[in-house]
Amino acid sequence: MNILFIAPPAAGKGTCSKILGDRYHLKHISTGDLLREEARKNPFLKKKMEEGTLIEDGTVLSLLKKKLMSTMDSAGRIFDGFPRNLSQAEAFDEILHSLGEKVDYVFLLDLKKDVCEKRILYRLSCPQCGRVYNREVLSRKPSQEGLCDDCHCSLIKREDDNKETFEKRFETYEKETKPLLSYYENKKNLYKINADRDTEEIIKDMINLLEQKKYD
Ligand SMILES: [Zn+2]
Repeated sequence: MNILFIAPPAAGKGTCSKILGDRYHLKHISTGDLLREEARKNPFLKKKMEEGTLIEDGTVLSLLKKKLMSTMDSAGRIFDGFPRNLSQAEAFDEILHSLGEKVDYVFLLDLKKDVCEKRILYRLSCPQCGRVYNREVLSRKPSQEGLCDDCHCSLIKREDDNKETFEKRFETYEKETKPLLSYYENKKNLYKINADRDTEEIIKDMINLLEQKKYD
């Protein structure tokens, strides 16, 4: 079973993939992690990454293929940060096909731009335990203003959680990642999830879809 997410910034992709992954014992495959791992052995790649040079699709795809082959006996996989655009999605399908597999589920975490923006601009996190809060979202407010519920540390705001960075990230999503929707819609493996709800409800929808298909 191979699961992908398509989600704008702050739609909750990280949280959802962690919960689903734990529940179904899925391997979590992040192309960022694969690249960082490879860069430790490969000084040329390391230099490129440090300089912020765009890494060619070919490099990412060959790392991904190796990882796919080494996880053939797993219960399934969840992909993080991939595919980001149409040509990656097509190449990815080819690789999976050559291994006798396919993309089984593509979950679109659907969230309007203004809600994404609010989540990012008012996001606060605990420097000690990493728990994330939001001072404008009722269900995510800390019980005492500015303090972590668990460790009572002062909450901090990430430096890149600003309007400018958000606009850039959202624009990239709209331009490059959104075209994937019609691609997967045609392949009939796209599932649209309303992400403007509590995490438990979002997860419940996904579990229903996964379980339902299992017994079809
Ligand atoms: Zn904390």
